[in-house]
Amino acid sequence: MEYISTRGKDGPLGYEQALLSGLARDGGLYLPVSYPRFEENEISEMAGLSYAELAGRIMARFTKGEIDEGEMTAMAADAYAGFTDPDVAPLKHLTGDIHVLELFHGPTIAFKDYAMQFLSRAFDRALQSAGRQAVILGATSGDTGSAALEAFQGREAVDIFILFPDGRVSPVQQRQMTSVDAAGAHAVAVAGDFDDCQAIVKSLFNDHGFRDKVGLSAVNSINWARLMPQIVYYFKAALELGAPDQKVAFSVPTGNFGNVFAGYVAMQMGLPVERLIIASNRNDILTRFFENGAMQRETVTPSLSPSMDIQVSSNFERLLFELLGRDGAKVAEIMARFAETGQFDLPAEAMKAAHGEFAAYRLDDEGTVAEIAASAADGMVLDPHSAVGVSAARRAVADGTVPAGTPVVALACAHPAKFDGAVAQATGTPPALPPHLADLMNRREKMHHADATADAVRDLVLAKRRDV
Ligand SMILES: *Cc1c(COP(=O)(O)O)cnc(C)c1O
Repeated sequence: MEYISTRGKDGPLGYEQALLSGLARDGGLYLPVSYPRFEENEISEMAGLSYAELAGRIMARFTKGEIDEGEMTAMAADAYAGFTDPDVAPLKHLTGDIHVLELFHGPTIAFKDYAMQFLSRAFDRALQSAGRQAVILGATSGDTGSAALEAFQGREAVDIFILFPDGRVSPVQQRQMTSVDAAGAHAVAVAGDFDDCQAIVKSLFNDHGFRDKVGLSAVNSINWARLMPQIVYYFKAALELGAPDQKVAFSVPTGNFGNVFAGYVAMQMGLPVERLIIASNRNDILTRFFENGAMQRETVTPSLSPSMDIQVSSNFERLLFELLGRDGAKVAEIMARFAETGQFDLPAEAMKAAHGEFAAYRLDDEGTVAEIAASAADGMVLDPHSAVGVSAARRAVADGTVPAGTPVVALACAHPAKFDGAVAQATGTPPALPPHLADLMNRREKMHHADATADAVRDLVLAKRRDV
């Protein structure tokens, strides 16, 4: 399988090259030259596969010529062996046509584990075949950093440094990062805010001497290999509800547009998806876009669902590429305009295609607390991100966007204990951490402190990375 850039000036290149590069050299994002398609009978034959077998069947289509189905299945089995639910992604019935797909049974109890656990193994394999080491550098406001440190700890070929804003992540999120006690895993508390952390990462990626010297790499959600493992659970849930004979809709709490784009890819691969519902909190740039075809950046407002407090969804560029008929030059032009002015419009005909496949809803904090209480009354305690998704699912059923009788799967993206404050506000009781994390807040912390400058972080990386 070959990969091309959404801005038309990089590629085609192979899967492992795309994996190690992350961002394309023309500033675009990699996508496969075409989506592999499963026939109806091939989808029927997937029923009864284990999660790892299903992952192998689906993901090997994207690595043709490099990783075959047998090896991919083994990689997936290894990646998901540490998940605490044998079903890996259990589907639960909530009420009426609404089901909840629990994506929080991985080591850091958020759905980022599906991608990161695979990605760390994928990096190991690619670096080994290329005979090199890498330094992974990332900035986090919470869930990505803990999932990445947990997944990459102990990987021989990789040293990982995750920057977080000192004092500005939740106590659970901080302890999840700082309790990782492995050579090569470094949590770095930066004396600044999340934007400072991101600016430092960007600046070090632009320092080409440093970048080449340490083999700098990124694991943020623009990496294609992070999207690939997320396609699998859409198939898994739909198969359980009767696909390919039964159409299924999905409701996805959305920030960077990575998770919902994986659903879009599942649809392009032949999975019969009725509708993809984009669920936003009050940072509703995507909802406004689907209402009027205009993408308009505003400032980020903190909410009860912080992992969705995003204005510019970096993966949206991938959908833009599809909506514009895969015209890379047009995407490059629109993205340049967006960077300069903070807005762009799409022609009506491009929006028409999008409206057939997507619907978008928003929910403010008050609504989020009300939904946590309502679903608790239905017998399920949700984290605030998942609540935004379930509320959107309820409204899509009520307003007929999803026809009666069609199952809607709401993705539950984090365990309620990860955001216990908001849950306690709604239900009166803070949820308990799952058994494997019960002693988390007593674990020893290991972290570095750094000034909010690129120089300070560069020196730290050079001093701490393992030289081989
Ligand atoms: C990352 C995250 C999201 C947003 O997912 P995207 O792929 O960025 O759209 C939603 N909820 C939780 C709990 C997350 O960690």
